[in-house]
Amino acid sequence: MNLGPGKKSMDSKHIDELRTLLADPSRVILNPQIVEQLSRDFYWYSPVLRKQLDGKLGDVVVQPLSALEIQNILRYCHANNLPVTARGAGTGNYGQAVPLEGGVVLDLSRMDHIEEIQSQGVAICQPGVRLGDLENEARKAGWELRCYPSTIIKASVGGFLGGGSGGIGTVAHGGLRDFQTVRALEVVTMEAEPRIVMHEGEAIHDILHAWGTNGIITRIWLALTPAVEWSQCVVAFDTFSAAFDFGEKIATGVAWIKRLVTVFEWPIPSFFTPMRQYAPEGKTLIFFMIASSQLSELEAAARDSGGVVTQSGVYPGLNARPLLSDYTWNHTTLWAMRSDEAYTYLQCGFNPDTARDQLRQLRERFGQEILFHMEFMKNGEGRVFPGAIPVVYFTTEERLNDMIDFCRKIGVFVANPHVNNVEGGGRYRADNVQLLTKMRYDPKGLLNPGKMVTFHTESEKAGATTK
Ligand code: FAD
Repeated sequence: MNLGPGKKSMDSKHIDELRTLLADPSRVILNPQIVEQLSRDFYWYSPVLRKQLDGKLGDVVVQPLSALEIQNILRYCHANNLPVTARGAGTGNYGQAVPLEGGVVLDLSRMDHIEEIQSQGVAICQPGVRLGDLENEARKAGWELRCYPSTIIKASVGGFLGGGSGGIGTVAHGGLRDFQTVRALEVVTMEAEPRIVMHEGEAIHDILHAWGTNGIITRIWLALTPAVEWSQCVVAFDTFSAAFDFGEKIATGVAWIKRLVTVFEWPIPSFFTPMRQYAPEGKTLIFFMIASSQLSELEAAARDSGGVVTQSGVYPGLNARPLLSDYTWNHTTLWAMRSDEAYTYLQCGFNPDTARDQLRQLRERFGQEILFHMEFMKNGEGRVFPGAIPVVYFTTEERLNDMIDFCRKIGVFVANPHVNNVEGGGRYRADNVQLLTKMRYDPKGLLNPGKMVTFHTESEKAGATTK
């Protein structure tokens, strides 16, 4: 275990004392299989992170049930200089929930209570609530999530706020950090006397996407949107460019009520083994979630544009078979990796005015090493643009970096998923609010240490001068 300055490794005394802090001592878990399982996430999507993070483990898993218990745990860990890494469902892709310096894995999955779906469309819940459960509850009350990751069934609300960005619904409602979707959150600080503090309005950005490095989210106010009766639809096109044009038309057309517009160039659809009957050889596919009231209109428009509808039907909810979202967003990469483990991915944002030229340049330079998987999204200014999670054939780290550099050179935004720190991922805020919050709420640097690399404690700074 490579402990940073001031941080301690754990011994049996620590475990015994932690047990006294919880109402039920069995929620302090030492079983090596469970500790290993709950120290990992989906970092192995990245061949670069695999090398860095394989074998990194916490010492113990602790499962709190309340903010009060979290205060007790953090007070103890602060006094004893023990690292603490928050964990929701562990579906993050960048090793966000992997403890780099051992210590406590704070498993929040048992804080899974939905307090209320307010009549004005705001859900109040604990962080361990699964997004799928929240969607189902919200729909019973006439609401639904504005956006969710394709891991909705498993992923937690707290983990989405801590490490996610958007997904299904983003084409209509923007990402998680846009349009005040997160109304407020309650956070426990890592201080000698941990406080419970509220963040509302702009102050939510202090905590969002900080990977649990500057506070533990214990309660969330999430804005919903009125529920829609959705249908799913798969359309095949002869060429990528015809599919891209049609996808863009639907994604940007304000009259279309949509939740998902995803374009996959061939051979990506060939990776979706359960969907092969809907994926004619050599064709580009678009997956849509569209209001049922517009399904036949969409099908007619697709046919007029040269598309062939290969599958469509009313979406009954998350138990739909097929569930199209299971093939979109970062699930696409998973299907590609199942087909050939050399595949990995990038996360890109294309310029809506010059995307076709940017795509052409990438194809010319990298050929089939980069396969286009487009996800149309709305940005914080309300403009719909072609985002992408392209599937990339990995050969070397140099080649991958070459691709990232080239994207940036031609104006394609890249949120690099092959780095294990908040700042390097491309979604760090230029105003530094997450770092400033860490300085206030975690002055010893014990929360998920190593993940916010611009943070240095006084002792680390002192250590650095002697190195
Ligand atoms: P975890 O992985 O457990 O945690 C994520 C981060 O949040 C960690 O740094 C953790 O320390 C921190 N954290 C967790 N709980 C708290 C808390 N209570 N307080 C403070 N910090 C906390 N992401 C997207 O945004 N969109 C997608 O469409 C998408 N698709 C995916 C598809 C696949 C197949 C996979 C494997 C991943 C995908 N992801 C996607 C990434 C991930 O699934 C989501 O971001 C998800 O919301 C993370 O939730 P989680 O509960 O698993 O979080």
